[in-house]
Amino acid sequence: MKKNLLLTTLLSASVFTAAFAQEVVDQAVVQKIREEGLNHSQVMKTAFYLTDVAGPRLSGSPGLKHAQDWAVGQLKTWGMANVGLEAWGKFGKGWEVEKNYAAITVPYYHAIIAIPKAWTPSTAGPIKGDVVLIKADTITDLDQYKGKLKGKIVITDTKTALVRSTKPDLSRYSDEELQKMAEAQPAAPGGGARGGANNPAFAAMRKLRALRTAMSEFFAQEQVGLVLAQARGTDGTLFTTNGASYAEDAKPVAPELETSGEDYLRIVRLLNGGIAVQMEADVQTKFFDKDLQGYDVVAEIPGTDKKLKDQLVIIGGHFDSWHGGTGATDNAAGSAVMMEAMRILKTIGFKPKRTIRMLLWSSEEQGLFGSRGYVLNHFGDPKTMQLKPEQAKVSAYYNLDNGTGKIRGVYLQGNQEIGPIFKTWLEPFKDLGASTVTISNTGGTDHQSFDAVGIPGFQFIQEPMDYNTRTHHSNQDVYDRLVEDDLKQAATIVASFVYNTSQRPDMMPRKELPKPPPAPAN
Ligand SMILES: [Zn+2]
Repeated sequence: MKKNLLLTTLLSASVFTAAFAQEVVDQAVVQKIREEGLNHSQVMKTAFYLTDVAGPRLSGSPGLKHAQDWAVGQLKTWGMANVGLEAWGKFGKGWEVEKNYAAITVPYYHAIIAIPKAWTPSTAGPIKGDVVLIKADTITDLDQYKGKLKGKIVITDTKTALVRSTKPDLSRYSDEELQKMAEAQPAAPGGGARGGANNPAFAAMRKLRALRTAMSEFFAQEQVGLVLAQARGTDGTLFTTNGASYAEDAKPVAPELETSGEDYLRIVRLLNGGIAVQMEADVQTKFFDKDLQGYDVVAEIPGTDKKLKDQLVIIGGHFDSWHGGTGATDNAAGSAVMMEAMRILKTIGFKPKRTIRMLLWSSEEQGLFGSRGYVLNHFGDPKTMQLKPEQAKVSAYYNLDNGTGKIRGVYLQGNQEIGPIFKTWLEPFKDLGASTVTISNTGGTDHQSFDAVGIPGFQFIQEPMDYNTRTHHSNQDVYDRLVEDDLKQAATIVASFVYNTSQRPDMMPRKELPKPPPAPAN
């Protein structure tokens, strides 16, 4: 009798949800989340440890390891379950800067703004000497310098003047811009082909890249003492890159400093004007090759519903950064927000139906490696679309990696069915500026690893702020660029999305499973 009655109740309950497939948001819980997230936030404290305390978190570096260990400890303190580091696969060598000094000494003293390119070697102790201006428009132009550059400090005339923008660095979305995003149409399958190979600008870029590669090899062979490279950026901001590979068998390169545009062009102008420039420099970098594995931070709030606890709601962001700053907006911001969302949910005593898992990826900057490796180990291979059973158990993945700006809405990643669901979930956050749902895709970060194997993966729409103009991969990506109110808002909304995903009767609707890409032609 009891059994039958239960069955009838269950049956009518499921009919009810199917017939009125409308999202229900528990306002009382949202209120609790808002109270904790907006009025008792610890997001800036977390960000402080990830940036000022840990320093740069370049993949494989001690800074990253330090921050990962700190996060593991903090997540345990907050009472999370299954906290630890999980290896995603082989990365390569770690690297860090131990000393970085460079200055012009003739015609007068001036310390320059310059940062070693990642994975480049040390100078041979302190070095001093004339700066040699290399004039090479083609690879054969390099021949004239054979045997003449050993131990020298070299610079090339890039003929790249600084272009300063008249627009302000920092911006927020206007209502019109958000409206445009909301009205976007689904992208045509296959996307826009660009036929770039015949584009003259593309050909010129390829030629320049070949010349730069040849120069890099030439400078290594000639045992150049130090190479100055012109960094992208203006106003003392310089955007960093890597000057060599992190692979174990990476080709040797010369020591190389990414130099601020202003300092670089001053040296070039002096040399072109026939005025000798002397410099002194001492650049010491260190490689780490004991453990070549890459790791992700993992933590959970276990599900409590008998039927649903094996299902997962995953949130994450990448934890690694570049080395010129402390990776505050890219992506201590997203990492701190995700940790804070977990803390909020734990603090309000939430017992989720589905299990909530947070992952903080490494080596995103080198190619989404941390999330791709994790997805491959747990969910499936996007190359073959061979899926693992756990793939069917992930309801959704939410990512944050577009800087410090608050959440204005969410990209649907082409998943139309989810639009009305997210709209309902954003309803209680209209007063905080988050209401836009766009069908558009956004790329360049870790939700793509999930999307690639058919798991609904999303990245939020964030205010641009000065992410693209000033902080993204630059020496200005530091704690002071973080906007406290924006990060509090983001953590509150993420926590609420996680709450809704873990409690709704059904898993999130999925798009059609992607087809495996065609095998490359031999
Ligand atoms: Zn990033």
